[in-house]
Amino acid sequence: MKEYLTLTQIQNDLRDGSLTCTQLVNHYLERIAFNAHLNAFVDVYMIEAQQAALLVDKRISDGTAGRLAGLVIGIKDVLALKGHGLQAGSQILDTYKSPFTATAVQRLLDEDAIVIGRQNCDEFAMGSSNENSSLGIVLNAADNSKVPGGSSGGSAVAVQAGLCHASLGSDTGGSVRQPAAFCGVVGVKPSYGRISRWGLIAYASSFDCIGPITKSVEDAALLIEIMAGSDEFDSTVSTRSVPEYSKVSDWNGKARIGYVRETIESEAISPEIRQNTLDVLHRLKALGHEVRSVEMPLLKHLLPTYYILTTAEASSNLSRFDGVRYGHRSSEAVDLESLYKRSRTEGFGDEVRKRILLGTYVLSANYYDAYYTKAQRVRRLVREETERFFDQFDFLISPVTPTTAFTIGEKTEDPLQMYLADIFTVQANVVGNPAISIPNGTDESGMPIGIQVMAPFFEEEKMFSFAKYLTFINKRNHLETAN
Ligand code: GLN
Repeated sequence: MKEYLTLTQIQNDLRDGSLTCTQLVNHYLERIAFNAHLNAFVDVYMIEAQQAALLVDKRISDGTAGRLAGLVIGIKDVLALKGHGLQAGSQILDTYKSPFTATAVQRLLDEDAIVIGRQNCDEFAMGSSNENSSLGIVLNAADNSKVPGGSSGGSAVAVQAGLCHASLGSDTGGSVRQPAAFCGVVGVKPSYGRISRWGLIAYASSFDCIGPITKSVEDAALLIEIMAGSDEFDSTVSTRSVPEYSKVSDWNGKARIGYVRETIESEAISPEIRQNTLDVLHRLKALGHEVRSVEMPLLKHLLPTYYILTTAEASSNLSRFDGVRYGHRSSEAVDLESLYKRSRTEGFGDEVRKRILLGTYVLSANYYDAYYTKAQRVRRLVREETERFFDQFDFLISPVTPTTAFTIGEKTEDPLQMYLADIFTVQANVVGNPAISIPNGTDESGMPIGIQVMAPFFEEEKMFSFAKYLTFINKRNHLETAN
């Protein structure tokens, strides 16, 4: 089967009869089986996907098919699909089946997308390497000794390895963009409140966003367009109308682009990523765009702010997993207190336990003001600093990650090094702005590098338009250097 970069290409072939959804689904099922060692999927919905394919094929011939006919998608194990398992990579939800479907997923289904399975991720989306999943590690398809990134590691690898056309992940601090960068695919975090979180297992509710992982900017824009918009089940979703993101054309005209020199030039970044990022900035400048470096002194406080606030929210969100209402219940319990304690101790992995403890600590009476309140203040200051930035610029460009995908096991003993993997991605979640990660070449050993474009709040149209343009000039450059 030929490699399809966009859904439009698939739909052209479906329309002219050279391809059927059944063939597509069977192709992906074969790829999933053949690549089982990658451990990208934790559950494959074979029969259902085949049945859905027959139905969509019929709708195509009847002329009644939805806008996503031909899209075979995988969903991260934090998104609810009625009647299916949902465990956020955790043993605490080992037997849980979802009684309803997430709004975002339902909107895709309503347009005839086919869900092929549930994808591996870090437990409760806490991690940057997929090594925190209780369902096993996921391997990067470009080099099986490397991590895929996290927490949406299975979702990124599934697109990278052609096991499905697109995936849905969730991004609280970079979990869509960072694995997309590690796997050489496109990943988008929309503005906070653009897409309903109903049916997404909560990690840190004021940060969590659902986002697509795809092979093209065009497909990511289309998926966001279909998922976005108000939802009576989630009061934090914006009621702003949803533009036709899928119709935006390549950016034309001059863009004002800012970058933070001290982060790009920092010693912590791999020289190849630094060079690739600077090359893009030089190219943009040569094409007549305004490219300037700026200072953002508050950026150094981003990671502490992020980890204080997200662990606080997580400790509260995860209190519902008590052995009574959901999932795993310890058989050793003798009274109510030991039921809570044992069920939670048996059900949660180390990283999740650590974050619940940290979160409980920063919310405790004696430390609340010193940590939680202070971090909220810093969050507001970072937001203001970011707003001031966007008064002067259209886009903030940075690398997505300081290094390419690292070796499995390399950072598991060093949580600070692991947390540093998110240094460029957390800002968008702390402030709520949209950001996209697109491929930007590879390092010496062939591992993918990503580049990130952040746009003003709710200006996804602008972001997609510029990302398309950037993809185009990057491709042109790689072709020229190859010749
Ligand atoms: N790696 C970050 C964390 O562990 C981000 C996770 C995410 O975006 N879900 O918190």
